[in-house]
Amino acid sequence: MFSLIDSVRSLLNSVFSYSSQMKSRLAAMQTSGFTMEHVLMLTSLAAILLLVFIAIKISRNADRREREIHQRNSVQTSHRQIKMLNDKLQKLEELNRSYLHLVTNISHVVKKINAKQSLEEIVFIFSHLVRNIVETDTVEFYVFDQPNNLLKRIPIRGGKGKALPTCPMGRGLVGRAASDEVITTRDYFNRQQGSVASDDENLWMAAPIIYEKRLLGVIAIGKPKLSDGANHLLRIIAEISGVALYNQLFLTDAKQKADTDPLTGLYNRRYFHQIARKYVEKAITDQTPISVFLFDIDNFKHYNDSNGHEEGDKLLMELSQLVQDYTRKTSVVARYGGEEFIVLLPGISAAEAFKYAERLREAIATHPFPHRENQPFEFLSISGGIASFPDHERSIQGVIRLADEALYRAKEAGRNRVTVHNSSLTSERERAAASFIDDSEDTLPDPSLRVIQ
Ligand code: GH3
Ligand code: MG
Ligand code: MG
Repeated sequence: MFSLIDSVRSLLNSVFSYSSQMKSRLAAMQTSGFTMEHVLMLTSLAAILLLVFIAIKISRNADRREREIHQRNSVQTSHRQIKMLNDKLQKLEELNRSYLHLVTNISHVVKKINAKQSLEEIVFIFSHLVRNIVETDTVEFYVFDQPNNLLKRIPIRGGKGKALPTCPMGRGLVGRAASDEVITTRDYFNRQQGSVASDDENLWMAAPIIYEKRLLGVIAIGKPKLSDGANHLLRIIAEISGVALYNQLFLTDAKQKADTDPLTGLYNRRYFHQIARKYVEKAITDQTPISVFLFDIDNFKHYNDSNGHEEGDKLLMELSQLVQDYTRKTSVVARYGGEEFIVLLPGISAAEAFKYAERLREAIATHPFPHRENQPFEFLSISGGIASFPDHERSIQGVIRLADEALYRAKEAGRNRVTVHNSSLTSERERAAASFIDDSEDTLPDPSLRVIQ
């Protein structure tokens, strides 16, 4: 701008000096025949030339300035674009890291969900995965309760005590994700429905869990730290959890039905053999014993005949419950036949198994079963046999066979007693012996030391 003013000023100066020179020359010219008109014409020409010159100068400067502004703007735009690209790159890197994290975690998770697990364990595994991958503080896991058409929130391990709500289909973020069967974000929900309900205030996104075109549940999360792509990751996790949930909800149910006796809910004979083999493998590794107690209700035909088959069924159910209540959770109780039951006692020697069996026999004998007074002993009695691994036999089938033989001897000896394989120890003798020695069961001699031929 200064350069322009300077050049104008210098021009004017030259014009002034020129005009003063002109004055003196004019006088000379007038004497040599130039008129005033000639002078004016020349002056106007000079002025026009001057203006043209100034105009050219101004327009050049304006062009330059425009170019400068344009350049500055384009640099600024480029800067902004670079910043945007940088942000995008950062987000992509963040997302990449999360995908990588997911891939490295997936094999671990799949290995875990292969095992037989409870619903709570599956929920815990996947909630943990979501929390780590999507990076959020809140994870809620719902299972679809089809008969009641609602979603039941499953407690995440460690979060017991709180009342866990249910969510009706179509209601709230969770209900909408379930009814629409699509990932529903809070923004989308707000646009469609107005603001979320207070129950959902902490929730940011909900993904339906679908497997084999069947809605199984919903995973809902709080605000993710991950700025972009959380929905894709959540969808992947929801898909994987669908497989685990399906197995748990349907296959486990079917398997359980195949493994248990429908009347009593106890394991059946087939499953007992299957599980017993596993216990034997462990016992071999740990070098611990396993005992088997096989028992049969005495005179059950009489019970049926006197009270009816239905009452007989009820008795079997009540007795099964009593045996389960009486037995440690580490032991396995199964219905071995019609009125025959078997208990696998891991880590228990024959002598300890005898104590347990005797207490159980007494508990049954004193339990107020209906119509017990009509039985030959006027109470419900059982006869049982015990054999142990590896002392008596080195295979579980062999041990069961020996326990069955011991049971047969108990029946032959008059029923209402327990007999241990290769031992003279029976309930009757033991009761007699105990009355001489001591009331404490700890004083019972080791039955494996008493051999009968
Ligand atoms: P013992 O003292 O020798 O064992 O005589 P028991 O009468 O108990 O034995 P037995 O083998 O003569 O009869 C068993 C009866 O158990 C006959 C059968 O109808 C009955 N039973 C088997 N399974 C069931 C069942 O599921 N429900 C009912 N109510 N009865 C059953
Ligand atoms: Mg019987
Ligand atoms: Mg029988």
